Amino acid sequence: MSEKLIFELSSEGRMGFSLPPVDVPEMKKEELIPQDFLRKEPPALPEVSEVDVARHFIRLSLFNHHVDKGFYPLGSCTMKYNPKINETLSRLSGFLNLHPLQPEDTIQGALKLMFELGEYLKEISGMDEITLQPAAGAHGELTGLLMINAYHRRNKQLRSQIIIPDSAHGTNPASVVTAGFSAVQIKSNERGLVDLEELKKAMNEDVAALMLTNPNTLGLFEAQILEISKVVHDSGGLLYMDGANLNAMMGIARPGDMGFDVVHFNLHKTFSTPHGGGGPGSGPVGVKESLAPFLPVPLVVKRENKKRLEEYHFDYKRPFSIGRIHGFYGNFGVMVKAYAYIRQNGAEGLRKVSENAIINANYLKENLKHHYHLPYEGPCQHEFVLSGINQKAKGVQTLDVAKRLLDFGVHAPTVYFPLIVPEALMIEPTETESKESLDEFIDAMIKIAQEVEENPEVVKSAPHDTPVSRLDEAKAARELNVRWKE
Ligand SMILES: *Cc1c(COP(=O)(O)O)cnc(C)c1O
Repeated sequence: MSEKLIFELSSEGRMGFSLPPVDVPEMKKEELIPQDFLRKEPPALPEVSEVDVARHFIRLSLFNHHVDKGFYPLGSCTMKYNPKINETLSRLSGFLNLHPLQPEDTIQGALKLMFELGEYLKEISGMDEITLQPAAGAHGELTGLLMINAYHRRNKQLRSQIIIPDSAHGTNPASVVTAGFSAVQIKSNERGLVDLEELKKAMNEDVAALMLTNPNTLGLFEAQILEISKVVHDSGGLLYMDGANLNAMMGIARPGDMGFDVVHFNLHKTFSTPHGGGGPGSGPVGVKESLAPFLPVPLVVKRENKKRLEEYHFDYKRPFSIGRIHGFYGNFGVMVKAYAYIRQNGAEGLRKVSENAIINANYLKENLKHHYHLPYEGPCQHEFVLSGINQKAKGVQTLDVAKRLLDFGVHAPTVYFPLIVPEALMIEPTETESKESLDEFIDAMIKIAQEVEENPEVVKSAPHDTPVSRLDEAKAARELNVRWKE
């Protein structure tokens, strides 16, 4: 692995284009531009040809793993292959060149898209109203929790606690604290689900809500969700669903029908925007009628004008709104992709997405459970969690297994999460993988399990075939240096 910086590839006078000779009188720039506006020094930009640029970035992209290059079974992240046409659609000039301060009557198409996207998400989730403003899942969580707070205050109640199961995503407790609540953790039962008795014990008049992921981070569906909902609502609490990964549910079940009052979606996961590495996200939040007054402003609404034609507007008239939680209206480009994805699939297609995601995960689970410990038996949803404890007993950690997978051209699964599974390997194949790529992954995992028995050193010192091997991850975060050479 040695790739120069593009600045080091620079060669004076080299260009990526050639222009025909001028056919008008040439003038010096000093004659055209006032002295004050001219640079003293030329800009320090690399001078390279188009070939130099294309090859440089292609080479760099190959050093890394990405979903366009290979299987990416990162649990709780829904790293599906994203249809490229969505990129094209989100770059249509009518969308791309909009300005957020344009008058409403000049952006009717964009408003219609936002309105309809909201309607689709309401239909998919069974919620009554929606905001598209939050820019990510965690941002959606914060928005939902602020609305829950506003709801209780309006009912003259000060409730300070949010209950979270021990299998929850790390953003849940973080959002709870950011929103000014305190987090109360409850233990899962031996099947990996919410323990109803534990929940009943934790419920009291200080509990504002239960925050639940369903299917939970073990990939298991909370079969007692209706009982859970009753326990929470009977003592005046609300039910929040972390719907970051809706990949197992579309067209099959709806959070709104399960008793959830608030749910956030990650458009960048379930509804196809390339993410990871801090890419753009979108975390809309759907609510039941009871929480609708508190939604952030503005909302996109549809009205009929005097000529009985449809018009779309921003609605700011929400006196109990928690206010704005994002500049302007959210990450519009991600909304365009989600809209395109939903329209391309249609209702039947979305259901198939979920069915295939579930079948793929179960196929992997059944083929791997004899080689790695499966702590929670039974059918899974879109993901499942294995434990590397048997490998650990032979001196090989889950981290080593994850690193060794890189040698097989596969991205490692999520590791050491959820926290309730020791040496966890959390695997989510998504619906976009073929049986062949699932089989390759199974073969790689089985081969590694055999290596642990026969030649553990090769696993412990992996990866061997990547451009760099084990990096000091803490150092990379603490002493960020993006230059190749000093
Ligand atoms: C990804 C994820 C989140 C956080 O979403 P971001 O967009 O990364 O903020 C929250 N909960 C669950 C279950 C997730 O998988």
